[in-house]
Amino acid sequence: WDMFVLAFIERFFRPTYRKDDFVLGKKLGEGAFGVVYRVSLAKKPSKVTEGDLVLKKATEYGAVEIWMNERVRRACANSCADFVYGFLETSSKKGGEYWLIWRFEGEETLTDLMLSKDFPYNVETMILGKVQDLPKGLERENRIIQTIMRQLLFALDGLHSTGIVHRDIKPQNVIFSEGARTFKVIDLGAAADLRVGINYIPKEFLLDPRYAAPEQYIMSTQTPSAPSAPVAAALSPVLWQMNLPDRFDIYSAGLIFLQMAFPSLRTDNSLIQFNRQLKRCEYDLVAWRKSVEPRASLELRKGFELLDLDGGIGWELLTSMVRYKARKRTSAKGALAHPYFDREGLLALSFMQ
Ligand code: ADP
Ligand code: MG
Repeated sequence: WDMFVLAFIERFFRPTYRKDDFVLGKKLGEGAFGVVYRVSLAKKPSKVTEGDLVLKKATEYGAVEIWMNERVRRACANSCADFVYGFLETSSKKGGEYWLIWRFEGEETLTDLMLSKDFPYNVETMILGKVQDLPKGLERENRIIQTIMRQLLFALDGLHSTGIVHRDIKPQNVIFSEGARTFKVIDLGAAADLRVGINYIPKEFLLDPRYAAPEQYIMSTQTPSAPSAPVAAALSPVLWQMNLPDRFDIYSAGLIFLQMAFPSLRTDNSLIQFNRQLKRCEYDLVAWRKSVEPRASLELRKGFELLDLDGGIGWELLTSMVRYKARKRTSAKGALAHPYFDREGLLALSFMQ
């Protein structure tokens, strides 16, 4: 498999770009398998790579991440950050490290935006253009959150239709693209491509427990040795239907929806506490609601109120995403067709105001 991936990467190796072409800027992130920097080109940038870039220096697992990014670029480019290229950099370390380059999409991830006191109003002009002269209130907040959810689900639908499960959907991995004026997904470091059987998570990798669906362990221990490519290609649609691995991302996206609706669940600690409560309720959101609503804080009540708008259509969507059984969760396509995103409903709403 390594050889297959390496051969694939060689084909996309661009010899005109190497280590010395990049001037390192601010460090943007550091995980167990790589460090991410904002970079610029040392020489006058070419048309293709104008503007700032992002560089991830990754360990040996970077090979798979390059593979995923190449595939996304060809199959569903709008879902993820613009990938420029990736290569094996051998001049510094023994064995080398993989360098991945993207276009710099913007300063803020959904985490940054969501933790601002102004959320969701701080996102309104970014995604909806000029702020309408409407009173601040639940309907207006709901409309902004709706738009963010639609963009996130659109990106997920693109990935899932391509046969890719992201497996690390969380606000830190959702970025606002200033160029495209839309939210995009980043970080394919834990992604799996079932159509060709690339389903690789190193033993040391832990799926983020804050956003992982309850079936997380099934996902990472399954298929210890991948079948050969043609066999996997023939089997994978069947495997996909049986396991519905895309619903793993839907659960995570549901938790993001929850955090946007409930201001008091936006911090790590409150989300961890929520997860504990939900587990105690056997992952039944309705039971959770029953247990917390009677003694809910103002902020928590505000979340229920928002989701209860238009006959509880938001709550209905949330409960169809956050469910114990993957099989019972809606798909990204299904969610996009949900009446919560109904355009007529939106129009009716603005008509009433
Ligand atoms: P990690 O494996 O460290 O989580 P990520 O790919 O998620 O790596 O990148 C880390 C951080 O770098 C992100 O949370 C984001 O803030 C920033 N980042 C990554 N890609 C881009 C991009 N294309 N444009 C702007 N910022 C980015
Ligand atoms: Mg990340």
